[in-house]
Amino acid sequence: MANSEKRIAMITGANKGIGLETARQLGQLGFTVLVGCRDLSRGKEAASKLAGEKLDAQAIELDVTSESSIKAAAGRIEGAFGRLDVLVNNAGVGARDDGAASSTPLSVVRRMFETNYFGLVAVTQAMLPLIRKSAGGRIVNVSSILGSISEHADPNSVIYQMKMVAYDSSKTAVNAFTVHLAYELRDTKIKVNAAHPGWVKTDLGGPQAPLEVAQGAKTSVMLATLPDSGPSGGYYHMGVHLRW
Ligand code: NAP
Repeated sequence: MANSEKRIAMITGANKGIGLETARQLGQLGFTVLVGCRDLSRGKEAASKLAGEKLDAQAIELDVTSESSIKAAAGRIEGAFGRLDVLVNNAGVGARDDGAASSTPLSVVRRMFETNYFGLVAVTQAMLPLIRKSAGGRIVNVSSILGSISEHADPNSVIYQMKMVAYDSSKTAVNAFTVHLAYELRDTKIKVNAAHPGWVKTDLGGPQAPLEVAQGAKTSVMLATLPDSGPSGGYYHMGVHLRW
């Protein structure tokens, strides 16, 4: 990696799906994009695809569940750029054996929290010193509408019957972290927001999802590129504030 005055964005879980598309769209806006991946060969393949589209992209190994991997990634970014302008916490998992609150195995709940919540917190804490060195850092936490307690409690909500306790509560925790961090950073130029990408055709979203990845990345890109006058501590889908 070489020193650069271009804005630097790191996207976790960017070797495929919404993360890869977020990297592509930020690259098209002129960012140097660091394609976070837990498997470096898959990350390199994704980054070279973007480089083939004349975008400034490079793979960076980052397993969000591994403390040593997170530390090494932060060290590499520090050494190469000395700062980070945008962090998109996109890496996430779902599980087939997720479902009812009374019977979803605790191991599934733990696995989901390990990546979707603890991983996100750990990456954010490790990257924050670098983001503080940006002229105006942006942190995007990729949540889901399935993390909304208000929607889940409303019998008229379209998601009322879509209850997967492990995934949903891990995203509710992401929302809580977003509000807490935004509060802590309220007197800085750093903005922290949660994104619902929509229901998107990916390995996680499935082929029946209505949105293509290009649309699915839009909310993350919008929040990653907010102006200094933009909001912090919110929960958005395509510019619309969602109920918590
Ligand atoms: P996806 O295609 O399955 O991609 C998930 C990405 O996360 C992959 O790159 C995966 O890497 C990575 N990942 C998983 N565990 C990781 C770990 N421990 N460390 C680093 N990376 C890890 O899913 P997606 O639909 O693009 O999802 C992206 C985000 O959007 C997730 O947070 C998801 O919860 C959220 N979301 C998606 C939808 C939807 O409809 N698709 C809706 C709402 C929210 P590997 O390739 O190595 O597995």
